[in-house]
Formats: sequence, C-alpha cells, structure tokens
Amino acid sequence: MIKRMLLREVEYARPGSIEEAVRLLGAHDGARALAGGQTLVNVMKARAAAPEVLVDLADLSELREIARSADGSLELGAMVTYSELVRSPDVAAARPILAEVAATIADRQVQNRGTVGGNVCVNDPTNHLPPLLSALGATFTILGPGGERTVAAGDFFLGVYLTAVGEGELLARVTVPALAAGSGDAMEGITLGVHGTYIVSAAASVGPAGVRVAIGCVSAVPERATALEQRLSGAELTPEAVHAAVAGLGDALDPPADVHAPADYRRRLAEVCCERAVLSAAKRARG
Ligand SMILES: Cc1cc2nc3c(=O)[nH]c(=O)nc-3n(C[C@H](O)[C@H](O)[C@H](O)COP(=O)(O)OP(=O)(O)OC[C@H]3O[C@@H](n4cnc5c(N)ncnc54)[C@H](O)[C@@H]3O)c2cc1C
Repeated sequence: MIKRMLLREVEYARPGSIEEAVRLLGAHDGARALAGGQTLVNVMKARAAAPEVLVDLADLSELREIARSADGSLELGAMVTYSELVRSPDVAAARPILAEVAATIADRQVQNRGTVGGNVCVNDPTNHLPPLLSALGATFTILGPGGERTVAAGDFFLGVYLTAVGEGELLARVTVPALAAGSGDAMEGITLGVHGTYIVSAAASVGPAGVRVAIGCVSAVPERATALEQRLSGAELTPEAVHAAVAGLGDALDPPADVHAPADYRRRLAEVCCERAVLSAAKRARG
C-alpha cells in the first residue's frame, strides 16, 4: 500500500548568517524562506505550494532585533514575532499601536510563532499588519544578490502572496517612524468572532502632518483612502466632519464577495471602520 507523506519531499537549510541565507535563496530555483511557518507549512500540506528548498531563518539573530535608529524610528527585524512586539519597551515608546494590534492577532500560539516578515510577505488581505504598516508609513528593507534596497509600503504590497520581495531575496527589516508629538494611531475592524480574521479593517494615523488611512480586505493590497485623506486635510476632526467625509467612500471600492460578506456589505463596513479609526486616532492625538 502506498502511503502519502504529509509534505512533498523538500530540502532544508538552516543558515547561520544573513549572507548565507541570501546565497542559498539565490542559488536554488524554488527556494523559499521559512519564518514562523504558519502559512507556508499549511500551504505545503495542502500542496498549494511545493518549494524545493526551505531556508529556515530561525538562527539569524539580527533578524530578531527590535531597535531604535538615531531619529527615533523603530527597526523591526523580519523574524520579530507578534509576542515580541507586545512585550517590547521600544515598541511601547515609539509606536504603541503595533503592540496593541499584535495582541489581537488570533491566539497566543499564533502570536508566539507568527513573524512581522511572514505576515507582510504573505500579504493575505485579511492580515493585520499590511494595512497598519501602510497607514504608519513604514518602509521595507530587502536584501538580495544585488545588495540592499528600501521600498515604501505603497510599492511593497503588490498582490495576494505577492510583494516587492523577489525570487532569491529576503526581507530583512521593517522601519516604522516614531509617533510624532500631537499624533495618534488606531486600527478598527470587523472580525469573525473575537480575535478572528478580519472581514474589513482600517488603520489610521492622525497628526500635524495630516491623516493617513489604509483599508484591509477590500482588495489584493491595502488600499490607501487618499480621497478621504484629502477631504480631511486641514479639517477639524469632529464626529460630524469625519462622518460626512467617509460618506460614499465605499462606492469607489471594488471589494471581493465571499461566504463571509457580499461586496456591498464590505463597502459599507469600510466606511464604518474608517470613521471609527480616524476618530479614535484623532482622540489619541489630542491626548
Ligand atoms: C489559526 C491562524 C489564524 C491566523 N489569523 C491571523 C489574523 O487574524 N491576522 C493576521 O494578521 N494573521 C493571522 N494568521 C497568519 C499568521 O499571522 C502567519 O504567521 C503569517 O501570515 C505568516 O507568518 P509566518 O511567520 O508564519 O511566515 P511563514 O509561514 O514562515 O512564511 C510565509 C511566507 O512569507 C515568506 N517569508 C517569510 N519571512 C520572509 C522574509 N524575511 N523574507 C522573505 N520571505 C519571507 C515565506 O517564504 C512564505 O512564502 C493566522 C495564522 C493561523 C495559523
């Protein structure tokens, strides 16, 4: 009797340096980085993906660092877990919304294994970090055979399971500007149950530099609500003004319809989530 293995046969490497990881990723067609494994191993079990070589990033301590740069920005190594975001004093000081949101992702097991890099490289539209990092104006540092490059959030997320990290490349870190004085961040969403998957989400950052809003689950990439941002530019963010500004915002969206929500319901939820996120961020900005 032939017994089917859970995973297709796969080569496994556990490099001890970033240089070695980049070399391995570039040297083998079909090599994939392995971070927390929570998405990758599941898609391998389902045979939706069958990488030939897994390059496990677990021993790369540089990718686990959380640091502050000279201008106060947060430098999050790609292998930082959600639990580490929750516990980090640097995150609490520089951009506390990251810890607040990480604490709401799924459950403790997922928070202990899931990584910042894995979350954004998957770019599942229901994931928490892509819209949040878009609203916060994060940048992404990618290493490859050609060296290092930094990509803004607007150019990083390209589609579902598709980002600016190309074949043979590695996401090294995510840089998040520190929260400026008089600013506030918030993320609001409608989930399937407590700590469940988002049906629609919106993240907002409000401050002297203006308003940034990104919506999740309405397209293959986080959608910046630029029309809303312009309408709110220079406006006093009263509940009435924000309510008026979000009206009709959903009509410009083309969200998917699935078993959880028809497209039109998602359009209306997007307006509700944006309104809540902007008002909550504005309240925090006022202190
Ligand atoms: C039950 C359950 C519920 C979940 N619910 C949520 C949720 O509500 N919200 C949410 O945001 N997430 C949720 N997740 C997803 C979870 O956050 C995953 O951790 C995440 O999507 C992938 O992260 P990972 O570290 O496990 O990456 P992996 O599965 O190891 O990797 C995912 C992909 O990213 C690539 N990759 C990883 N790191 C790098 C890197 N540094 N450079 C280049 N490529 C890289 C891999 O090659 C792979 O293609 C859930 C997961 C589970 C199991």
